[in-house]
Amino acid sequence: MAESFQARTYFIVVFVICVSHLKSTIGKPRSSWPSLLPPNLQTLDLANRLRDDPAAINIASSDQGNIVKEIPAAVLYPSSIDDIASLIKFAHFNSAPFHIAAKGQGHSVRGQAMARNGVVVDMTSLKNQKIEYHGIKVSAGNHPSMGTDHDDTTWYVDVGGEQLWIDVLNATLEHGLAPVSWTDYLYLTVGGTLSNAGISGQTFRHGPQISNVYEMDVITGKGDVVTCSPENNRELFYAVLGGLGQFGIIARARIILDSAPKRVKWVRMLYDDFSAFSGDQEHLISLNGREHKNAVDYLEGLLLMNHGPMDGWRSSFFPLADHSRITSLITKHGIIYSLEMAKYYYDDPTLDDSVDEELKVLFETLSFIPGYAFEKDVSFVDFLSRASSREPTSTEVHPWLNLFVPKSRISEFNSGVLKNIVLKRNITTGLVLFYPMNKSKWDDRMSAVTPDEDVFYTVGFLHISGIDEWEAIDVQNQDILQYCYNAGIDIKEYLPSYKRKKEWENHFGMKWETFQERKARFDPEMIMSPGQRIFNNN
Ligand code: FAD
Repeated sequence: MAESFQARTYFIVVFVICVSHLKSTIGKPRSSWPSLLPPNLQTLDLANRLRDDPAAINIASSDQGNIVKEIPAAVLYPSSIDDIASLIKFAHFNSAPFHIAAKGQGHSVRGQAMARNGVVVDMTSLKNQKIEYHGIKVSAGNHPSMGTDHDDTTWYVDVGGEQLWIDVLNATLEHGLAPVSWTDYLYLTVGGTLSNAGISGQTFRHGPQISNVYEMDVITGKGDVVTCSPENNRELFYAVLGGLGQFGIIARARIILDSAPKRVKWVRMLYDDFSAFSGDQEHLISLNGREHKNAVDYLEGLLLMNHGPMDGWRSSFFPLADHSRITSLITKHGIIYSLEMAKYYYDDPTLDDSVDEELKVLFETLSFIPGYAFEKDVSFVDFLSRASSREPTSTEVHPWLNLFVPKSRISEFNSGVLKNIVLKRNITTGLVLFYPMNKSKWDDRMSAVTPDEDVFYTVGFLHISGIDEWEAIDVQNQDILQYCYNAGIDIKEYLPSYKRKKEWENHFGMKWETFQERKARFDPEMIMSPGQRIFNNN
């Protein structure tokens, strides 16, 4: 596949003398480029797919967070992978290289998909192109990287980096198959989540989404299109997974599939005692193999606090009739911990689907408050798409903070952060997620960073605030980080946002040297994903 890409890739010299203006279908090309982009960019074959009108610039200079604004010089609406490769090659070889950022859904919250004075590549414009390897294609076959726990036939799906996970779900279900590792929210692009990790309640069992990729096509920071896997071009493969867009753009990912269950028993149980809650979570994630009858397929947790209408528990999960007794519990204790788990089943009379029996046995081993377990029976699709797509309003701000906290310090985190900071300040609105994962399901050769313990928790403060209140929440975020620093709790940020090189060095720790070496190898001009502010703005 890589060879055919390379054969179609033009050498940079051909570009700069090529003056073929394609008929624009998307927007008007600019007559003179801003000074920071080289004027000869206009002569590229793809010039008519570059836009700099206010509408295009406005979309590319904002994201879900609504905190950062970086104005690019232009936006590329590619019609093919070649378009992107051409642009990157042009930037790479130019005497004055400019920045390029892939933008998936722009669901980052701190400007990570922006490129000040550079070019933002709107990946979603590839979605409707009819190109050989684009879209979503389910196949079966042997793959060298397949694990030993797979049957004879291995199923996988080839997916364009621009595709949304919701579309991957729908397309694979047509074959009775589905990926095994998800995010809570499915309106994110494959390229966007694989650049971070992609975590949810299945991570403890199957690893993050980056642990479930066989192969990728990547357009590197030099504009080369390279197929990579654990067998071929492995350095690039491991660099890109969790690589924050620093080494190139994911054009295609080959993702592991398994049989799709039909239905899901979805349970939430309430705890007023933190150690009972975390003890049960840790017990459940220790049963992570198929051989454990009591193993669950999904495990998360969330905090219930009395902080206004955005609290997660007010979602449609809890029966209306129980709201008042749950509210009383929250009022009494300040924080209630909700363990959320799910067991999949196939709804097939030929299979031994004793899911109710298994749940009953499981309940007996857990220490939730008696009478406070709530159960739902939903289709697999309804379960995975439980977080509906909703466009945020222009006055809504998302000052999110996502942390990985080592298990050995989690009790201290509960008292020092949750009780002494978050509860006392009473300003947290939105969901607070809290659940553990097994480090053994992560691959340390990849760029993603986790704490150095067998089990660590993810804590996601998914704040939603108005335009005037987010700074107070950000102060709280800083105080949480400072508390962890002072207490020597070696947290790692997930979806990190740092401004200084020293902070990035500290974030990557032992991986920093490798990360730098990979950058020098795959993006030596440091043009890719400047919005992460790792190799620029230091
Ligand atoms: P963008 O924000 O567009 O891009 C993110 C970064 O990746 C940028 O640096 C960009 O340059 C780079 N990038 C984008 N596409 C590519 C590509 N094809 N190749 C290389 N680099 C690329 N995350 C989880 O892990 N689990 C969750 O459950 C979860 N839930 C979320 C719910 C909501 C409502 C939101 C807004 C975010 C959630 N996230 C979650 C975070 C999400 O995974 C990241 O923000 C992710 O980057 C979003 O994907 P995107 O397509 O919007 O990427």
